[in-house]
Amino acid sequence: MSVNEEKIACPKCSWEPDGHAYWTCSCGISWNTFETYGKCPGCGKIWRDTQCPECAKWSPHVDWYVDLPAIELEKVEKATIAQT
Ligand SMILES: [Zn+2]
Ligand SMILES: [Zn+2]
Repeated sequence: MSVNEEKIACPKCSWEPDGHAYWTCSCGISWNTFETYGKCPGCGKIWRDTQCPECAKWSPHVDWYVDLPAIELEKVEKATIAQT
């Protein structure tokens, strides 16, 4: 299992990520975006919107975290940026 114990689901169709690397960055890297809170491990680009592999619709990354208040993710994002 990944480090994320939070409930994560597509806001549009309720599809739940299963840990596979469905997302591809413009730099060519494929990864599981929910392990990095939307940040590409290759080039460091932060994807604020996340596309659902199931319904192909885009939603803000924060909207995928069902139980997590948006303000919490803002803190995580800032911490992620500070590390680079
Ligand atoms: Zn969906
Ligand atoms: Zn990238």
